[in-house]
Amino acid sequence: MTDLSEDRVWARHRRRTGAVLIVGAGAVGGFLAEELARLGFSPIRLVDPDVLEVENLVRHPLGAPALGLPKAPTLAGKICREFPPCHATGLHADFLELADSEQQRLAAGADVVVAATDSAACQRRVNPVSLAAGRPAVYPAVWVDPRVRDAEVGEILWVRPGRQTPCYQCAAAFRQGAAATQAARGARVDIQLVALATAQVVTALAEPTDERAGILDPQRTPVYLHGLPPTSPAIRAPFPAPGLASRNVRVPFPAMPCPACGGQQPIARLERRAPQPDGAHRRLAIRALAALAVIIVLAVLIAGLAHP
Ligand SMILES: [Zn+2]
Repeated sequence: MTDLSEDRVWARHRRRTGAVLIVGAGAVGGFLAEELARLGFSPIRLVDPDVLEVENLVRHPLGAPALGLPKAPTLAGKICREFPPCHATGLHADFLELADSEQQRLAAGADVVVAATDSAACQRRVNPVSLAAGRPAVYPAVWVDPRVRDAEVGEILWVRPGRQTPCYQCAAAFRQGAAATQAARGARVDIQLVALATAQVVTALAEPTDERAGILDPQRTPVYLHGLPPTSPAIRAPFPAPGLASRNVRVPFPAMPCPACGGQQPIARLERRAPQPDGAHRRLAIRALAALAVIIVLAVLIAGLAHP
């Protein structure tokens, strides 16, 4: 039997360690699980309520032999078979329908939680569960907008607990009215790009002292990723050039305390912002100064005329 000892498997790569919970074993969650396994993460726990359907075949790590089988346990089995150093398990269930205590147990058993579902309700639920368990969480998704090509832009939001960063709900409030995000659409290669970038973010969160953690800027927690497809006009402002690019964007804490994480903009910052003159005030001040200058010039002229 071939030697699969750790020092041979990771001879060309330092092993990354940590337990990861992935809620959603679709395209993003599936490719992510395979990548994290090879990076060294173990155990990996997958939770997903779906079975593999024909429509999934073009962009899922599972193939035709798995049609009709539950995605989470089948993918976990494939990972264990093809990459034995990783212990992967799959739960065929809807995370939202699990008991609160089971949700908490799953999150608490992981070093990093990933929510890669196409259900906004489920993504929202993972947020308070991860915060309560004190675990960092990552929310990979695809920017969905009628003006933007499918999967042209990926969004990877990451959250550290304890108000170290704004949470998923803070970010949802921030992007209200802007484009929605979901994990459902997109071509295989673009989805894999999102999964690969998510693996880097998971690695950085799991090993904050590693030099790779430098990709995380706590002031700019969503990472936007533009793939190789031509750039749609709607996103030329953030991505002016075609081709691969990423941008970290600043999400503020809300002005009022966030119901999920309790985070809030510092009072000092709000006060500093409040008294700043707006445009109208500034124009008034300029007019007053101009009037004062005219009065002074007139006064000097009058004084000169009065005393020739
Ligand atoms: Zn929050």
